[in-house]
Amino acid sequence: MGELGGFLKIERHDPKKRPIPQRVEDFKEFVVLLPQAELQKQGARCMDCGIPFCHSGCPLGNLIPDWNDLVYRDRWRDAIDALHATNNFPEFTGRICPAPCEASCVLDINDDAVTIKQIEQAIIDRAFEEGWVRPEPPAFRTGRTAAVVGSGPAGLAAAAQLNKAGHRVTLFERNDRIGGLLRYGVPDFKLDKAVVQRRVDILEAEGIEMRTGVDVGVDVTGDQLREEFDAIVIATGSTIPRDLPVPGRELDGVHFAMDYLEQRNRFVAGDPPPEKPISAAGKHVVIIGGGDTGADCLGNSHREHPASVTQFELLPEPAPARPDDKTPWPQWPLMQRTSGAHEEGGERVYSVMTTHLSGEDGRAKELHYHEVGPPPSFEKVEGTERTIPAELVLLAMGFLHAQHEGLVEQLGVELDGRGN
Ligand SMILES: Cc1cc2nc3c(=O)[nH]c(=O)nc-3n(C[C@H](O)[C@H](O)[C@H](O)COP(=O)(O)OP(=O)(O)OC[C@H]3O[C@@H](n4cnc5c(N)ncnc54)[C@H](O)[C@@H]3O)c2cc1C
Ligand code: SF4
Repeated sequence: MGELGGFLKIERHDPKKRPIPQRVEDFKEFVVLLPQAELQKQGARCMDCGIPFCHSGCPLGNLIPDWNDLVYRDRWRDAIDALHATNNFPEFTGRICPAPCEASCVLDINDDAVTIKQIEQAIIDRAFEEGWVRPEPPAFRTGRTAAVVGSGPAGLAAAAQLNKAGHRVTLFERNDRIGGLLRYGVPDFKLDKAVVQRRVDILEAEGIEMRTGVDVGVDVTGDQLREEFDAIVIATGSTIPRDLPVPGRELDGVHFAMDYLEQRNRFVAGDPPPEKPISAAGKHVVIIGGGDTGADCLGNSHREHPASVTQFELLPEPAPARPDDKTPWPQWPLMQRTSGAHEEGGERVYSVMTTHLSGEDGRAKELHYHEVGPPPSFEKVEGTERTIPAELVLLAMGFLHAQHEGLVEQLGVELDGRGN
């Protein structure tokens, strides 16, 4: 374990963040890890609990106390092996995972959780710096083949595991670059695309064949895949966004969040400008949806210097700290979350519903809304009708399900009641 009673002597220290005036002028990652010597002390806070509840929080079952201890003991080389034992891509999770492990850390009951996510990122970043992460092609091939459709984190992890087991893997991606939402959803200021590409290069060097620009279900049919491969993994993500069916939805300037986010990531990647650019520069921006996608729209908007940005959320404002009556430890706490983008500015408005949008010459100008009561009825609060300027409206209200048309239909995949 870390240091006996370490948590009694050492306080939790979070990573630093680059100053706001500096970071809104670029797209570089804004989180700056503590020095490694300091992180070793943070590792010492881990109690190596008899029942490590952090495990129950982590969907990957990461061996958290093991690598906390290895970092504390300055055994970084062993720490990356322990981390890679359960996690194909710690450089992604260390940067953008919401860290349910920390919410379920035993120290979170009456102290501050171990800074697990920061330690995770430090282990993998150091491993890359030291050259410890190298392509490791399988020692033998089974003669079996697998097609993985979709190159987001799910497809990449499935491809990595199948390849490791010795199967010949072909990864299909309809977009022009590998990575799914890591590439064209999550902004560079949270996850630098060089970090994504570095891992893609390793997977390719390990023998995974990557075919971009292939829309499976259109360019290649499900039957063709069945004929050519012994197994098919569908990892096509949840790509059908929830729409806002209100009058004025058709106006210019009203877009799905993903259309905006993809354009911004392509801009950062140096791609040529799109035919119909979506820009927040100098505009009154309204983001509808208070989740991660909305926050990423907010961060990107700040970097374009809008006239104003407002983020709307239908649900009531969450409690400032874990509400023990609703989500007691070790559950994921339903509480207010303030991302880097929120720290950078903009206004958050809760318990509001959009009724319609109005415009001039086909372009959105104003958004009309009113307050609502709590779920599940979200009843209108009479007399609260309001209007705000809205020249760019970004719809970030989540995703409904995977795309059915094409591959899913062709393969006759069984769907649940929600279409997944
Ligand atoms: C804007 C945004 C920000 C997010 N931020 C975070 C965050 O900070 N932390 C976090 O933990 N999670 C975050 N998430 C959620 C996270 O990105 C997703 O849970 C994750 O990417 C899902 O991975 P996936 O591989 O299932 O799908 P995706 O990443 O969506 O990848 C699916 C891939 O399949 C491809 N594809 C689809 N159909 C076909 C086809 N027929 N043929 C070929 N290719 C196809 C798509 O082009 C895509 O590349 C965010 C999501 C969004 C939208
Ligand atoms: S729950 Fe917290 S203190 Fe306990 S083993 Fe996990 S990280 Fe360490």
